[in-house]
Amino acid sequence: MTEHTSFHPVVGIDLGTTSCTMAVWNGAEPIVIPGPDGGSTLPAVVGQNQAGQIVVGRPSASDALPQIDRIKRDLGTEERLRLRGRHYRPPEICAFLLIELKRQAEAFLGGAVHDAVITVSGSAGEPQRRAIREAAGLAQLNLRLLLDDPVAAAAALGVGDQDRTYAIYDLGGGTFDTAIVRIGPDGVAVLGAAGDPQLGGDDFDEHIVGYTLRQIRERHHVDLSRDEHVRRRIRWEAERRKRELSTAETTVLDLPLLTATVSVSVPLSRRAFEAMIEPDVTKSLGHVAAALAAAELEHGLPRRAVDQVILSGGSTRIPSIRARLADYFGLDAEAVRADVDPAELNARGAGLIAREFEPAMIFEGSRPGLLGANLRLRAEMADPSPAAETIGLQPPDLLPGVPAETPADFRAVADASRSLLTTTPAGGRGRGPLRAAYLAFVAAIQAADPDSRLTELGRRLATEYDRSGRGAPDQPTETSD
Ligand code: ADP
Ligand code: MG
Repeated sequence: MTEHTSFHPVVGIDLGTTSCTMAVWNGAEPIVIPGPDGGSTLPAVVGQNQAGQIVVGRPSASDALPQIDRIKRDLGTEERLRLRGRHYRPPEICAFLLIELKRQAEAFLGGAVHDAVITVSGSAGEPQRRAIREAAGLAQLNLRLLLDDPVAAAAALGVGDQDRTYAIYDLGGGTFDTAIVRIGPDGVAVLGAAGDPQLGGDDFDEHIVGYTLRQIRERHHVDLSRDEHVRRRIRWEAERRKRELSTAETTVLDLPLLTATVSVSVPLSRRAFEAMIEPDVTKSLGHVAAALAAAELEHGLPRRAVDQVILSGGSTRIPSIRARLADYFGLDAEAVRADVDPAELNARGAGLIAREFEPAMIFEGSRPGLLGANLRLRAEMADPSPAAETIGLQPPDLLPGVPAETPADFRAVADASRSLLTTTPAGGRGRGPLRAAYLAFVAAIQAADPDSRLTELGRRLATEYDRSGRGAPDQPTETSD
């Protein structure tokens, strides 16, 4: 065993409705691959810029230029999506996401990536699965496995030497999935599953939009509910403020110049927000009950056999949801596990399982015309942003400084990492993971992420720093492409 990070270049991809996350095995554990700006997820948005080129992962609050989101919902349909003045089929839009993810993975790993394991909702039908396979082919990725989401989530927690029974509660942006899963030395078994393809954080945003529109009607005596442009701006602000309410008790929606005569600030408390989503949460528990009933009917599993509840999906950061689940299962708060970032859980599981597949030397797809189609899509894409291009090669003087708010526990390692990165020649091989860990940590501080997240990223930084400091910066087995 060398002391170096030795990545297994088969990536695990959580291809979400609202965001995508990737993880890769580093020889010891699955590591989430950060994007160019240090964030761990890529918004699942494909749009165009002024020049008419495709840009991926940059959602815009304005409707000045067309953009396509929630492509996962259209996979397997015959929908035609309009961008750049032409029509695309859903697998093509999905391919843009996968091409960008592949590019980010290659920048992070410093070598070619040809293989992926992609997660898919357990309830996805064959047309949706076929569309994902096609999208992977268009992105020149060998799709090694389509992995069911709950299996990915359970796998991420690791296998002990005893059987454990988990209830997976995955509440994302647009979909809700739940499963009762048993995991142990013999593998993972899904005992019962249920879900709702139309339930998630988007609905919560819509509740806030409705509330805001009512406030506007009362204060300004105008009904803006039919103005798509206004709705879009409110929805954008609502989503941001909703996330804030997971850590703060109150917030304010700030909406200047919604129209020429209407500007509003709408205060919103966590309590009021949680009351708005209460019926949705109750609905989700109805699906949990259905999954439990299936597990009981088919496997004789009683509800009290559930050891722990596993949270997955961004919307499970909402505090009341955790409390409701503990209550529902009659479990202690600690048995509702949130120790792994719910936005990263499925990707980590996919990255873990991806290690079982040998990396290929090339893209193995043989359908005629596939390479041509890939080249055409790539030619339509804007050049990667300067940050994306240089993630492994960023000139040291462009590295952000260590923020003043850095927790004392991690200040020393942050200072040391920065100094190591700035004294290494730009592009020094093997510095990519440390640089990425540093950027992710700084970005989390700047975004005022919760302490648990900072701690996790700080630990990751310390690990990468250790690795860089101990060994030579060059990886012994450089993969060439
Ligand atoms: P998907 O699997 O559908 O892509 P994600 O797991 O990425 O979804 O979750 C995205 C949803 O989680 C969005 O609706 C987003 O607004 C919501 N979300 C993200 N972070 C938070 C937070 N801190 N508090 C509440 N909701 C959040
Ligand atoms: Mg998800």
